Amino acid sequence: MQAYIGGIVKYSETDWPGKASMVIFFSGCDFNCPFCRTPEILGFKKELSRDLREIKKEIENNFDINAVVFTGGEPCLQKLALFDLAKFCKEHDLAVAVETNGSRPDTIKALIDEKLVDFIRLDFKAPLNDTDDEKNNEHLQKVTESSTFFRPIQQVADDFRQTLGILKKNLVTESNSKNKIMLELRTTIVPNLMFKRESLLSIASEINKLINESDEFNLGRIKWVLQKFTPYEKILSKRFQNINSPSDEFLDTILGVIIKEYPKINVEIRNDMSSLSLAPEIIFENKEAEE
Ligand code: SF4
Repeated sequence: MQAYIGGIVKYSETDWPGKASMVIFFSGCDFNCPFCRTPEILGFKKELSRDLREIKKEIENNFDINAVVFTGGEPCLQKLALFDLAKFCKEHDLAVAVETNGSRPDTIKALIDEKLVDFIRLDFKAPLNDTDDEKNNEHLQKVTESSTFFRPIQQVADDFRQTLGILKKNLVTESNSKNKIMLELRTTIVPNLMFKRESLLSIASEINKLINESDEFNLGRIKWVLQKFTPYEKILSKRFQNINSPSDEFLDTILGVIIKEYPKINVEIRNDMSSLSLAPEIIFENKEAEE
């Protein structure tokens, strides 16, 4: 089977704390977040098409890992390839994480139903149409630039809600992780785009609902990471290449407000340069060009 794969990071101890993981970057995404750090793999470029046997060999020959993290781009857009690789990982006793923007609830549901995923990191990009300010999902549209003629932003928001609903039924704390997935939500705080207190409180309120509506046995303190935007010369939109990070003072203040209003949410601030693999270390080369 062929798939569009942007590249890999062979070994990481930070992408899934507590695990030694390989990170596989699927290429192609249905969003165009202006602050995206992997613009080079957002399309389905012919030269990124790979035979999955090549990727499986990389996984099989890596004896240092006990987990694989699938990220992107948006891995859920290539459902068959994601399934094939996740099954392969499970057959090799490797834990599986999927990082997603939540736009493909059917893929998320199938992964969970087939027990092919242990950890989901979901980007909660922007508030979902809850206040006047966010009418018609304008804010979500600005943050993701994902609406098209065929898939309007309302549809994107509905799909995301559906993903939240699926995850709600499958929440678990770290200490009670048998047969259930773990969930980390992530919001990037970007000056002039996604930074207002009301917007963050609106997301907090959705996450709080998720906690309150989960069944008591599986009720977990869901982790919500506020990721601090850091400028970077390769960011998708030039407009964001040179703007400043939000200040620590601002982030501490907003953290305090959220904790006070929603004490059940386990919220933390993360510097986006410090922990996750932000781009593939090894970009697969174009075989056709070599020949
Ligand atoms: S930040 Fe994530 S969801 Fe947004 S365009 Fe980049 S890969 Fe896609």
